[in-house]
Amino acid sequence: MAREFENLDTKAIHAGELEENIEGAITLPIFQSSTFLYSGQSRYEDLKYIRLNNTPNHIVLHGKLAALEGGEAALVTASGMAAITGTLLTLLSAGDHLLAQDCLYGGTHDLLTTDFDSWGIEYDFIDSSNPSSWEEKLKPRTKVILVEGISNPLMKIGDLLSVVEFAREHGLVSLIDNTFATPVNFNPLKHGFDLVLHSCTKYLNGHSDIVAGAVVGTRSHIRRINRKLLHLGGSLDPHACFLLHRGLKTLGVRVRQHNRNALAVARFLHDQPAVSVINYPGLGGLTHNARNLELFRGFGGMLSFELAGGAEAAREFVSRLKLIQEAPSLGGVETLITRPATTSHSGLSEEDRLELGIGDGLLRLTVGIEGVQDLIDDISQALC
Ligand SMILES: *Cc1c(COP(=O)(O)O)cnc(C)c1O
Repeated sequence: MAREFENLDTKAIHAGELEENIEGAITLPIFQSSTFLYSGQSRYEDLKYIRLNNTPNHIVLHGKLAALEGGEAALVTASGMAAITGTLLTLLSAGDHLLAQDCLYGGTHDLLTTDFDSWGIEYDFIDSSNPSSWEEKLKPRTKVILVEGISNPLMKIGDLLSVVEFAREHGLVSLIDNTFATPVNFNPLKHGFDLVLHSCTKYLNGHSDIVAGAVVGTRSHIRRINRKLLHLGGSLDPHACFLLHRGLKTLGVRVRQHNRNALAVARFLHDQPAVSVINYPGLGGLTHNARNLELFRGFGGMLSFELAGGAEAAREFVSRLKLIQEAPSLGGVETLITRPATTSHSGLSEEDRLELGIGDGLLRLTVGIEGVQDLIDDISQALC
């Protein structure tokens, strides 16, 4: 029987670990073996094989991720997108209908708008902060509702509690992409969501050196999603499992520092006359629904802002930065900046992008865990 822990930092280090230290090793070794000795299994998915996501490296990660999110079971995947596609294709078949938050991660948005049609799966976008507008979008075959805890790149927190209530009332499976908040800041399963999705590429691994994903929820959901993933083939390599396992152990200390640094940078930007808009839920403000804001213990390292000088000023600002590097992706220890119009959201039409509030000059910062004064100094010298 696996030991259970209350504290998140203890879970990150000890939950899911094997009871015996292999050859006395404190750290779980990498089982770089595609196949394992047959030991009488009668079902295909019980054979030990990397694609079946059941090597010791996978099993330990599943236990740790389930403990961190407070779920019965977890599944690691080859990328965040593999977790998202594997989950959606398990829950939706041709003729079914999905409700999805309108401002989604670019890859997920692209998946719906370019692939769903050819698979015969229907979808509609909803404004996640306006529950009274959802019911009219329901169809007889609506099966799933998908939202993000903190949206990219405007850092909006929708009416998440209403999503859970709405899903229960209408018999939908509720999915939430919790990549930005992480279980350090928000535990969706505790508040009634059915399944939590992660791009572990980001905060959960935290070191910008692998691509990985995860889904956490009930045992029966996870078993079904795993069966689908065996066919789709998006399993995580044991070496990447090892790196994710290592990254997870410091999740708590890293994310709390991300929270502190981002709040300090957001406050600094808020006070600069050259900054016209700043999006960070930790600053409060009217765009967030108070009862949902209270679900979060912190707001993570992601923020976005616009300069009064528009796109041209944004380009010049980025070119003057010395410590902060221009690159997409997020959630690593280093601070990065990107212009969503040219990176994460370049797949959207200009019209859709502007309608969602993602202007050409919007800058998105993933605040790392460096000394915060060094970050503020860099931003400050680049602003003038
Ligand atoms: C990056 C990201 C994804 C996709 O994850 P990959 O690991 O790149 O496949 C999904 N959702 C969110 C919110 C992300 O930031």
